[in-house]
Amino acid sequence: MHIFDSHLKKKVKLEPIVPGKISMYVCGPTVYDDAHLGHARSSIVFDLLRRVLKELGYKVIFVKNFTDIDDKIINKMNQTGQSLSEITTHYIQRYKEDMRALNVLDADIEPKATETIEEIVDMVSVLLDKGYAYKLDDGIYFDTTKDKKYLTLSQKIDEDTQNRVECHFGKKDQKDFALWKFPKSDEPSYDAPFGEGRPGWHIECSCMIKKHIANEGEYQIDIHGGGADLFFPHHENEAAQTRCATDQTLSKYWMHNSFVNINGEKMSKSLGNSFFTKDALKAYDGEILRFYLLSTHYRSNFNFNEIDLLDSKKRLDKIYRLKKRVYDKKASAPQKEFKSDLLEALSDDLNISKALSVIDKMTSFANDKLDKNPKDKAFQKEIVANLELISRVLGIGLMDAYEYFQLGISKEEKEKIETLLQERDEAKKAKDYQKADKIRDELLSMDIKIMDTPKGTVWEK
Ligand SMILES: [Zn+2]
Repeated sequence: MHIFDSHLKKKVKLEPIVPGKISMYVCGPTVYDDAHLGHARSSIVFDLLRRVLKELGYKVIFVKNFTDIDDKIINKMNQTGQSLSEITTHYIQRYKEDMRALNVLDADIEPKATETIEEIVDMVSVLLDKGYAYKLDDGIYFDTTKDKKYLTLSQKIDEDTQNRVECHFGKKDQKDFALWKFPKSDEPSYDAPFGEGRPGWHIECSCMIKKHIANEGEYQIDIHGGGADLFFPHHENEAAQTRCATDQTLSKYWMHNSFVNINGEKMSKSLGNSFFTKDALKAYDGEILRFYLLSTHYRSNFNFNEIDLLDSKKRLDKIYRLKKRVYDKKASAPQKEFKSDLLEALSDDLNISKALSVIDKMTSFANDKLDKNPKDKAFQKEIVANLELISRVLGIGLMDAYEYFQLGISKEEKEKIETLLQERDEAKKAKDYQKADKIRDELLSMDIKIMDTPKGTVWEK
């Protein structure tokens, strides 16, 4: 497997710290609002990476956090009068619902900042003791000038950093950042030897990695991921904290996915074109959305627009049409060449366009062969196994093939069809074939074709 390491800015061979095992940490959302398409894309990208690594035989441990205490959540508390836990519980639940609809697998561990306070207080204490942090009247700050390797991760030059750091006149250097914030009035806060307060944003990830996935006695993980906007300052700061507190490197490799643009414009709330995942999910099935978001390589910016989405759906339709042709067959083993071509494409830094063309080639070949030999059972079983491989690795093609093609048909119409099918079944059982045929004709007049299969009667429009 080769991945693009954003620290080295080149493709490198993935060599895990412990052979056969991969530890991965991806920065999750701050839970004060619903997930937007940028969150969806990042989740899908790292879900794909995790699935590919597993298919390649690695034992993968995957951690994604929830930032459940932060200025934005406190603002929301003030706006709505709701408690911290009311807000965070609600948005964690909402996030999970959206991600599951996109076939994103839950992380192995999903730590929350509020459940990592003890470790955070410890690390801040160590940084203060070692002279890497100082106290101001509103919090404890990390002293970036003391860390000789600061900015070596993102390789930013000083001038680039100006507009991405919080301005504060008391700081020794404007790049210094808060490790701990003292409360204003009655904000939520926790006890600490250096003063009651709450964590700054960056410190939780360093502590969660140390707590949950660092290899025994070492604080380094294999892959740290997130959106490109997190590289500086967030990841730079995470790396600095761990380096200075533990004398170890936080992560061996760093991976970042690019942005989502909506109709050519960078998605941002200030532009009013922020697109919530839940809104997209109202219009399109989760799998169609997932397939579309997957179809652009993760390091390219994604330009979301409906025309492309419908185009990408046609490609997914092809997979489901093939799935329908082998509907009631069981899987044997996938075709060797198909499997190795697919995994080879994805092992090249998740080369998705190559992977999709391997799938296109397989579906065309399978359709041709099924046209010529419609009764070749052994071949049909291989195709089922190929489709199962696609589902496992890409997280698509998981629906019942007939249900997939019923997407977009109204609930009322579906209910009517199901009722007629039931009546037909009953008529057949009662040997009233005249009535059964009459119902079949009625369905045909609604443009509904029915097929009796060993799995029961299925229909399509
Ligand atoms: Zn983080």
